[in-house]
Amino acid sequence: MRLPVIIPLCALTVLISCSKQDEHFGQTEITRWKDNKPAAISITYDDASINQFRQALPIMDTLGLKGTFFINTADIPGSQFAPKFTGRPLEEIIKETATSITNAQNLFERASALRFLNIENAIGTHNQAGALYEQNKPEESFKVVDDAYALARKKKNASTEIRPVLLQPPFITWPEIKAFAANGHEFGSHTISHPRLAVLDENNMLYELEKCKEELLNQLGPESTFSAECPFGTENERVMDYALKVHPALRNRMPEPFLVELNRFTSHTPGEYKKQKEYIQWQRGPLKRHTVEEMKSYVDTLLRYDNVWLVLTFHGIDGVGWEAKPHQEHKAYFSYIKQKEDKLWVATFGEVTKYMRERMSGSAKVEKLKDKISINLTHTLDKNQYNVPLTLKTYVNSDWKKAQVKQGAETVTTPTLADSVGTFVMYQARPNGETIEITTAD
Ligand SMILES: [Zn+2]
Repeated sequence: MRLPVIIPLCALTVLISCSKQDEHFGQTEITRWKDNKPAAISITYDDASINQFRQALPIMDTLGLKGTFFINTADIPGSQFAPKFTGRPLEEIIKETATSITNAQNLFERASALRFLNIENAIGTHNQAGALYEQNKPEESFKVVDDAYALARKKKNASTEIRPVLLQPPFITWPEIKAFAANGHEFGSHTISHPRLAVLDENNMLYELEKCKEELLNQLGPESTFSAECPFGTENERVMDYALKVHPALRNRMPEPFLVELNRFTSHTPGEYKKQKEYIQWQRGPLKRHTVEEMKSYVDTLLRYDNVWLVLTFHGIDGVGWEAKPHQEHKAYFSYIKQKEDKLWVATFGEVTKYMRERMSGSAKVEKLKDKISINLTHTLDKNQYNVPLTLKTYVNSDWKKAQVKQGAETVTTPTLADSVGTFVMYQARPNGETIEITTAD
């Protein structure tokens, strides 16, 4: 992206100096990724199963990599909001199913209540109904719901305040999560209790989304309410509409016009889209059957382009959680990523999202003076939420060996670099902060 450069008129007194300036003196761009690296990677985890924290996170800490954890807050002891049904009395709904079959009008209410029926595998049956609905098989989904209610009607206590549990103990605790977050790992919503949101009615969907957000806000603070992943990787339009009003960033889908999204279920590759958009988000979800060599190949593919963001999604580890992989594979894979860190920007899902959005709505206004470049870096987003520094690349004179970059109270002296265009300096800058001033430090 070429950014506008304001070229000041040379005053007569500095004409000689101006004429000495290199052709590209002052030309500034916000680099596509932090530190002008050719690719970005985010390592994400779903469901908060215990070995993500006992096995994978320590490996990442040893290597200095930060991850994103999408957690179900009901599975953390001491959470304020338990899974519950919000709506008419459950007994009333159960009674109605004796005389009316499930259809498109009542599916969402019944599928929401289904998780709280006192039948064997109520959660699994709700999930099955949701999966069929999302596979565009509504009639089959209605049948699953009808069969479940038929079982419930035979019971004396047909409904229950059961707590739909995704995990078995041991659970991770809030004090531990707080310490991980303080160490730079990102935490985001995976809802309270992992329902099939596509078949929840409005009240129950909003309860799962909004109360999970409130729990994260109360326990961890506003940073942990930025990113979310709606369960089962759903891309259901109705769910996305609701969820994007609650969270600015969803791993499921993003609203950006500048981003191609290849979700973890696709067989399409970044190469097919390399010139279509400014950025490509390429998700890969390694399962048990995927070898470390296959996982390494994602990184090798990434490095063939300059606009791809690899988003890895992991689940179970060492026998605990869905599609559990041995932690030794994480260790080998993360070490491979670390070895290539000079070419890879490894950052949380939220940080990469913020960087892209700030850059795409940002501008660097340049004023060239005698032996000095002044730059005002701004973006049009919410300044409290979008506070990630951006990497700028500014061309200077070819005889500058070192440059001093000053923004407010911060001053950095850095050697200049050169490419085919000319001599430049690369540095981090805070958007909407003080004017950046670049001078020679020779
Ligand atoms: Zn999940």
